[in-house]
Amino acid sequence: DSDGAPSDDPPAVELDGVTKRYGDAAAVDDVSLAVREGEFFTLVGPSGCGKTTTLRLIAGFEEPTTGTVRFSGESVAGVPPEDRDVGVVFQNYALFPHMTVGENVGYGLNFADPPEGTSRDERVAELLELVDLPDAADRDPESLSGGQRQRVAMARALAPGPDLLLLDEPMSALDAQLRERLRVQVRRIQSELGITTVYVTHDQEEALAISDRVAVMRDGRPEQIAPPRTVYREPSSRFVAEFVGDNNVFAGRVVDVEGGEAGDEDASRTVGVDVGGEVLRVEADEGVVSGDRLAFCVRPEYLRIGEGENRVRATVASAEFLGETTRVTLDWGGRDLVVRTRDPLSGEVVVGFDPEDAHVIDGDEA
Ligand code: ATP
Repeated sequence: DSDGAPSDDPPAVELDGVTKRYGDAAAVDDVSLAVREGEFFTLVGPSGCGKTTTLRLIAGFEEPTTGTVRFSGESVAGVPPEDRDVGVVFQNYALFPHMTVGENVGYGLNFADPPEGTSRDERVAELLELVDLPDAADRDPESLSGGQRQRVAMARALAPGPDLLLLDEPMSALDAQLRERLRVQVRRIQSELGITTVYVTHDQEEALAISDRVAVMRDGRPEQIAPPRTVYREPSSRFVAEFVGDNNVFAGRVVDVEGGEAGDEDASRTVGVDVGGEVLRVEADEGVVSGDRLAFCVRPEYLRIGEGENRVRATVASAEFLGETTRVTLDWGGRDLVVRTRDPLSGEVVVGFDPEDAHVIDGDEA
């Protein structure tokens, strides 16, 4: 399910049943997905889930064991990386230390001509302007900060005017503050060029912040492919709910069902779920019946102190002051509940939420 928008154009990048095996293990396991023209598409997931391998298959550093990679509808099987019109930036794609910044950017043009009507020098200047380092051409890469170097690496990758930009954890070596600033710049550069981009990160917050759509990967395949808001608010599985955002995932057995006319699919309908002896009401689809097992998540911003139709008593276990808010972990009968508050909390608190603020997880293995 690639959440495909109606369009007659073939996707910029398409993986069709792609598997990559190393020995017996599948690093990428029967993946089908489509990246749209101009889209910022992110592969996110825990270490070892196959993100980098997927990117390498797109770049042409690896060939699939089975399945097909297509660019704009054409198979790229057997096409070497240098003929794929892709720009690639890795986490530690070091700049050449014996060359100036400008020479580094120009290096990208040794194998491909600059876009028509532009000289090599003009192109280098244009790219340095784009990455906001207009005066850096004569500088020594060693004299730049980590973030500036990554911008030069991006300029070098973009110099030949590739159709596709592939970024593999380009910011993971940088500190948190710098990463946040750089991701805004990366997104701006991508939007300015309108270049189709596939981005790899293990950082869920970064993925949500930067992307048009996100593929949350698990064990070699995407578990959900959707815009950031959907992945966050309507995770398709418990794995996605737990990987993205704070957990607050609960599971239990449905004990009663009320509301909604039979056959009326739009009617809001709540069910009571017995979670560790406490019955919590959540909105659920038609088709959920008493006795079913159900999992749901409640994002921290929907948990309120002393309010809400469902209320439970919990004890403050720990608190992290984050500036704008404090992230408080509560212990509710051995389960962690994460809330965000402005005021400090301590001791025992009553915390609640409304049925419509819970998201029932589809196809849960509860
Ligand atoms: P990380 O975030 O740690 O980089 P990842 O999600 O990018 O992880 P991959 O690097 O794609 O994951 O690796 C997926 C799986 O395939 C891992 O179990 C890895 O050990 C295995 N793998 C990757 N490349 C090779 C290889 N060349 N030979 C053997 N196994 C490999």
